[in-house]
Amino acid sequence: MLMKIHPIKAFSDNYIWVIEKDSIAVVVDPGQASAVIAYLEAEALELGAIFLTHNHHDHTDGVEQILALHPGTPVYGPQETVPLNDHILDEGDTFELFEKPVSVLKTPGHTDGHISYLVGDALFCGDALFSAGTGRVFTGDYQAHYDSLQKFKHLKDTVKVYAGHEYTETNLRFAKSIDPKNRKITEALAEVTALRKEDKSTLPSTIGREKEINLFLQAESLEDFIKRRQARDHF
Ligand SMILES: [Zn+2]
Repeated sequence: MLMKIHPIKAFSDNYIWVIEKDSIAVVVDPGQASAVIAYLEAEALELGAIFLTHNHHDHTDGVEQILALHPGTPVYGPQETVPLNDHILDEGDTFELFEKPVSVLKTPGHTDGHISYLVGDALFCGDALFSAGTGRVFTGDYQAHYDSLQKFKHLKDTVKVYAGHEYTETNLRFAKSIDPKNRKITEALAEVTALRKEDKSTLPSTIGREKEINLFLQAESLEDFIKRRQARDHF
C-alpha cells in the first residue's frame, strides 16, 4: 500500500497530520490527544512515531496523553521540545520512514528551534510556512525567518506542503489587499473560498503553487519580507 497522509482537525484551525503505511501511523504535531487516539483506534493503526516541529502548546500538548496509551513510541523533535522528545533533530539530519528518505530542515523565525520534515515529496512545515502565508515571527529574528523561507523556495515545485494551520483564506484575502491585480491570487482566493464554504481543507498545497500565491515566499529582500509580515500582523 502507498503512503497516505490524513488530516485530523484540532482546536479551531490546527491540522495534526497522520502519515500512514500499511497499519503503521506517524503523527505530526499532536496538539490534542483525543482525536488522535480515536482515529488510531478506528483505523486499527499502530503508532510508529511522533514528529514535532516546534514547542508551541497547540502542537505538543497531546504528546503525553498519547504516550500514556502507546508507551515507548519514539518522539522526534528539535532541542526546544525536550523533554517531550527522545530523539533530537537538527538541520541536515536524515533517516528513513516507510522506505522514503526523511530530511530535516532547520526553519527558525516563528520559534528559535523550529524544524520541518521532508518525507519523500511531502513537507511537514508546522508554522514556518502556510499556504499563501507564513507564521508570525515570535522570535523577532526576521533574518532567520527569511532564510527559512529561502530553504522552502529551493525545494522542488512538486513538493506537497502540509502546514500546521488552515489559514489559507485569510492569507489570500491579505495577499489580494496587497496585490489586487494578481490573477493567480484572485483565482486562488475564489477556489479556497469555495472549499472553505464546504468545510474542506485547502491543504496540501505545493511549493510550485506557493511560489505563485505566497507573498512571503516571493519577498525578494529581507526588508520586503519584514514589511509584508508586519502588514499581515495588523491585517
Ligand atoms: Zn506555533
